Amino acid sequence: MPDLQQAQRVLREVFGYEQFRGAQADIVDTVVSGQNALVLMPTGGGKSLCYQIPSIVRPGVGIVISPLIALMQDQVDALRELGVRAGFINSSLSSAEYGQMMTELRAGRLDLLYIAPERFSQAATLELFDTLPIALFAIDEAHCVSQWGHDFRADYLSLSILQQRYPHVPRIALTATADAATRDEIVERLALHDAEHFVTGFDRPNIQYRITQKRSPRQQLLDFLRREHSGDAGIIYCLSRRKTEETADWLQQQGFDALPYHAGLSAEQRLRHQQRFLREDGVIVVATIAFGMGIDKPDVRFIVHLDLPRSLESYYQETGRAGRDGEPATAWMVYGLQDVIKLRQMMDGSQGNEQFKRLERIRLDAMLGLCEITSCRRQALRAYFGEQAPDQCGNCDTCLNPPPTWDGTQAAQKALSCVYRTGQRFGVAYLIEVLSGLESERILSNGHQRVSTFGIGRELDKSQWQSVFRQLVARGYLGVDHASFGGLYLTEKARPVLRGEETVQLREDIKEVSARSRRGSD
Ligand code: ADP
Ligand code: ZN
Repeated sequence: MPDLQQAQRVLREVFGYEQFRGAQADIVDTVVSGQNALVLMPTGGGKSLCYQIPSIVRPGVGIVISPLIALMQDQVDALRELGVRAGFINSSLSSAEYGQMMTELRAGRLDLLYIAPERFSQAATLELFDTLPIALFAIDEAHCVSQWGHDFRADYLSLSILQQRYPHVPRIALTATADAATRDEIVERLALHDAEHFVTGFDRPNIQYRITQKRSPRQQLLDFLRREHSGDAGIIYCLSRRKTEETADWLQQQGFDALPYHAGLSAEQRLRHQQRFLREDGVIVVATIAFGMGIDKPDVRFIVHLDLPRSLESYYQETGRAGRDGEPATAWMVYGLQDVIKLRQMMDGSQGNEQFKRLERIRLDAMLGLCEITSCRRQALRAYFGEQAPDQCGNCDTCLNPPPTWDGTQAAQKALSCVYRTGQRFGVAYLIEVLSGLESERILSNGHQRVSTFGIGRELDKSQWQSVFRQLVARGYLGVDHASFGGLYLTEKARPVLRGEETVQLREDIKEVSARSRRGSD
């Protein structure tokens, strides 16, 4: 096919690459032939070529809409280096520069024009575009069109004009992060119903995913680092600033070269820690999510999550900072019920309307789902981003050591009925005391030594019960009421279990709790 051959020649002769990577060839082919496309590809996957090459191959100028005004100059400079006729229009141009750009554009001397989205609400821009042959519209960072996403930009809403005013110009929307809800909104707002979807490149085969229950996190972390990653560079993510400081201090005492990093440190300190991480060997950064954006260190050997990320997007992005060099790396996480409760509280207390909060909860549930599954983690992660994957990856904890399950129906019934008998307002710690038959002051003052579930759970110990409750929460049998500080209540889903109509399979690993890990602290 001549078009694809031409695209291949541009790839080689202009960009200097031997071949297209992954789905690039299909995407380029689709757009060159005038069809619409939606591209989901992680950062670094090679999205730019997907619109740059069709812009060069097709007649007319390719219009690239990007919110990242600060990067336009660099992108354009890089293209010009390669001999591509590129330009940009944004508020940073002087009027002389602007005039010159217009001349180039009108004379048909540009292959690519980068432009900020707000231009599309200006009549002058549209009138100009009406007179030009246009190769395509590329909508970069397309998730910005989603109201419920984290990066919503009102200017992107005006882009619905593209389909209405230029129905015959192909549109290609590109993003690195989009769950199903965001993806649907992109399709809706940019009128991409007939677009071909390309979801690709989300697999990072050299990263080993492991998720384990939080028992004594510090001891677990120490074991992990000493056994598998002594002397390696890595990032440890925590939810709070205080915890990053405490964890870094403690790791230093244990002989590791660990540094804290969070938005509360001075700019100078942050820069110093970041540079030590980048330039020296074996430095560990203990960070809040503030660390990592734009950090390109190829030999990060491990990513640890001591607290649960708030979504699979965050988890994927953060773990994706490991092993950029393609060598083996580990994504290791511990999680516990307290994490879930803390995150839900943060979300409920956050700004934002009900629908936003509801989506946040759905995202968190998906994250929990990944923690609690008994099948391949990589498959689940890739499936979440819309990618097909084999049943077994052979490089995640559930593939390497399939977690045995046990029939937890009876334990679930005891836990659920204990919640019910004590009035659906107590937290996990208290409920476990009741199940264990502890005659604590609080239990006696509530008269709960007299409920029928008092002391019926002595066959499991405290950490085992915690796991049972966590799994029941994660799977939606129990809800967490934040107004009552984490009180648990039954959901609709709990009924068939209590009536004995449904069995509950639980992960077996709670029974492997060793004596050592029970001694540790949280
Ligand atoms: P994204 O926009 O998806 O984050 P980029 O388009 O910036 O990714 O590409 C990431 C890197 O991969 C760039 O350095 C780019 O030059 C390189 N790259 C992209 N496609 C190819 C290819 N087909 N062959 C070799 N390198 C490529
Ligand atoms: Zn696997």
